[in-house]
Amino acid sequence: MLVRFWGTRGSLPVAAHAPQVQAKIARALMAAQGRSFADEAAAAAFARDNLDFATYGSYGGATSCVEIEGGDDAFFVCDLGSGVREFGIDSLKRCAAGHPRTWHVFLSHLHWDHIMGFPFFGPAYDPGATIVIHAGHADAEEALRRQQEEISFPVSFDWLRANISFVTHALDEPFEVAGVTVTLIRQHHSHDSHGFRFTRDGRTAIYSTDSEHKLDDMESEAAFEAFFAGADLVICDTMYSLGDTVSLKQDWGHSSNIVAVDLCHAAAAKQLALFHHEPTYSDEDIQRMHAETVRYEELVRAGRPKLQVICAYDGLEVPI
Ligand SMILES: [Zn+2]
Ligand SMILES: [Zn+2]
Repeated sequence: MLVRFWGTRGSLPVAAHAPQVQAKIARALMAAQGRSFADEAAAAAFARDNLDFATYGSYGGATSCVEIEGGDDAFFVCDLGSGVREFGIDSLKRCAAGHPRTWHVFLSHLHWDHIMGFPFFGPAYDPGATIVIHAGHADAEEALRRQQEEISFPVSFDWLRANISFVTHALDEPFEVAGVTVTLIRQHHSHDSHGFRFTRDGRTAIYSTDSEHKLDDMESEAAFEAFFAGADLVICDTMYSLGDTVSLKQDWGHSSNIVAVDLCHAAAAKQLALFHHEPTYSDEDIQRMHAETVRYEELVRAGRPKLQVICAYDGLEVPI
């Protein structure tokens, strides 16, 4: 399987402003120390090898959208945040090169940041496309139709040309989609959210966003340990620092990097991707949180195999 991140920001899309870009360029010029480069490729290589990610790159600003490559003759995508616009463009290019025009969408829940990209999803306008929307919510269709009502958007849902269908799934009962086994778990979040476990040929990816873990609810945590068990990659809602989740932002429906590491350790997962980044965090803030999470994992590892902690960014690809 290959996991490709198209949108990693939580709650609201964000864009870099000119002063943020200028600060990156200034830091890069300082690091170059008057060095000269033969061409742009040489300068780009220097940037990649010598600068930190927050300086030479960016975590990006599109909301939740993650592609899981590995289904038979079909695209798999988790959530329809603003990142799905670019995924739509890219997947249609792959269709032009011969990929079948079938998309399986797995919706974690119906909050706006997880569905806002659908009216801009190119394949929805393609009469040759088949789009199957899988959700644990029976009201998924209502949510998608409502955001395209005239008061909110100029193109009605009924004008979309693709063959679009909705499938509501029971929780905790595995089902098969295009050769991949999929299981849902209920997560603590306003109007509920669902985590997805995708398994094929002994490889497992978990998509678990917008999930508040209650540290004192041991029964629920045991269910998540079992759900994450042995996963090759766990994509986890780590919107806030632990300090925020236990004080200011308790019951806001999100979790911390610390809880995610503890759960992945308990589940013997191999890799954790920090995801659903807080929209007010700068690239430097997210990079700092990533470094702190890596340090925390080392501190509490206590003889367990290493949990690889990566920080998702728009454009990241993770083979598993
Ligand atoms: Zn969200
Ligand atoms: Zn949400």
